[in-house]
Amino acid sequence: MKQPSTRTYAEFTARAPLAHRARAIARDLAIRALAVGRRIGGRGWVRFVFYHHVFADERAGFARQLRFLSGQGEFLSLDDALAIVRRERSADGRNFCVGFDDGLKSCATGALPVLAEMRVPAVFYVVSDLIGHSFAADDAIARDAFGFQGRDTALEFMTWEDCRALAAAGMTVGSHSRSHANLALLDRAQALAEMTDSKQAIERALGRECRHFCAPYGQPVRHFDPVRDPSLAREAGYASFASSARGAMTAGSDPFLIKRDHLLANWGEHQLRYFLSRG
Ligand SMILES: [Zn+2]
Repeated sequence: MKQPSTRTYAEFTARAPLAHRARAIARDLAIRALAVGRRIGGRGWVRFVFYHHVFADERAGFARQLRFLSGQGEFLSLDDALAIVRRERSADGRNFCVGFDDGLKSCATGALPVLAEMRVPAVFYVVSDLIGHSFAADDAIARDAFGFQGRDTALEFMTWEDCRALAAAGMTVGSHSRSHANLALLDRAQALAEMTDSKQAIERALGRECRHFCAPYGQPVRHFDPVRDPSLAREAGYASFASSARGAMTAGSDPFLIKRDHLLANWGEHQLRYFLSRG
């Protein structure tokens, strides 16, 4: 039986074990304490922030976060942000580049309207084989690759039509691989195929070049070979390679090892100040 797709973050986390939820509360309290007095300071940086989902009950929080960040710096498209990193553009400002991993449907339905209204550019890294798919909560892909714990709901991905709408709205569509495989577990040829196959599929569907790659899971060493895989992405024709290692980027940082800060759209200002004030 086909399950209805997940609409809210509450549904998404409904099955999270109690211990997991208790840990999240403890972590939030700790971050609240650590964030006291912290400011997002300095100049001359780009912070790449990224989300996985903006469900219906996260939309207000997402808009609130964008309003907060707009008071802290400028929003840039991925290409403009990379121009700073490559020293092709003035680097004395404070800049944010917003991204979304995985290509979940809620990014098109929840995030895009808010981004369009606030005129914030963003990059959407999609998994080409999962486009248009929907997985039950207990499906192995939903469970293992996406930590999906919803109850009686499905994990729904964007369609190519959604991707074309993103591109038409001025957003960047990048590759998050073909199958969301852990690149560190693949041999060289398999890792390269994840990059080239997804690039071709996206370019065929969108009729424009797909220039940016983002590693699934994204932790250096654990999820990709930080020497081999960025250079494979270059070989596949990409202009950048994004990781999930946290931190700021500046002029002269490596566009083939982009650091990014993962955010949840329902987080408060203290979590943003805590994570985005760290080097
Ligand atoms: Zn991912």
